[in-house]
Amino acid sequence: MPKPIVGLHHVTAIASDPQTNLDFYTEVLGLRLVKRTVNFDDPGSYHFYFGDDAGTPGTILTFFPWPNAMRGTPGVGEVTLTAFSAPLSSIDFWEQRLLGFNLPVERSTRFEETVLTFPDPDGMKIEIVGHAGAAPANPARFSPVPPEHALRGFFGVTLFLKKSEETEAILNTMGFTKRAEEGNRLRFSAEGTALGNHIDLLLNPEGRHGRMGAGTVHHIAFRAADDASQLEWREILDKHLHVTPVLDRTYFHSIYFREPGGVLFELATDPPGFALDEPIESLGEALRIPPWLEQQRTVIEQRLPRIELHKAKVLA
Ligand code: ZN
Repeated sequence: MPKPIVGLHHVTAIASDPQTNLDFYTEVLGLRLVKRTVNFDDPGSYHFYFGDDAGTPGTILTFFPWPNAMRGTPGVGEVTLTAFSAPLSSIDFWEQRLLGFNLPVERSTRFEETVLTFPDPDGMKIEIVGHAGAAPANPARFSPVPPEHALRGFFGVTLFLKKSEETEAILNTMGFTKRAEEGNRLRFSAEGTALGNHIDLLLNPEGRHGRMGAGTVHHIAFRAADDASQLEWREILDKHLHVTPVLDRTYFHSIYFREPGGVLFELATDPPGFALDEPIESLGEALRIPPWLEQQRTVIEQRLPRIELHKAKVLA
């Protein structure tokens, strides 16, 4: 058996205005921009990676900010909720902080946890799950959020589906088993307590299909411990689904497959990570592009919208 899949590696979503997206995730949620790069398949647009201070797997939320993107519609076959982990004792802080930014925040209880649900600037539903046993923080160095309240990384995601059997089977194959059930919500997790270890299936046979666009999740990536495990997992998963060959994403290596409920899954390696091409001290401050696009750098830089990382303002 390959080394286990312990949880999520990253979640990738679509945004519209790059500056608005950058400001929200760094200045409101206090994440660190750990990589400023381009969409490798569309180098005229950015690819932002936000995470903890080091860009640890399980903390990475990434965006393709397309300035003129139409707003999408969340629906069946999509990830409709992306949840961060925080200590239960930080929930009141976060509720007040989010209300202070005039965000509509809903507070609820789900299974054992206290959950805050609110929209990002493109309407994407973000959650902060307060729970006992939140991991220690590795807070972003330029964050305006007090370190004890820093978001720890992912708690998990919710997939909205019409039915669950085939998705359950694939999750089981990946080492995720059903741990709890509440109404029409099923909770799966892998062994251990890694970040992003909660995969919820929210079922509604009458649910309407979603449409990709700004404010929707494009795909979710699970963690492969290394290249060898990834290839072993590829062989196992390819017996059930069409799995892509390994693709080089510079900071990790990826395979992709669509689970039967319609959600695009990726399996991404932990190495080499985000300190591959720039020092940890200045992650995200300069535009990094992969070697095969480097000769087009001038053209790419001219086409990209101007953005400003408000690091100084946050420090002041
Ligand atoms: Zn990805």
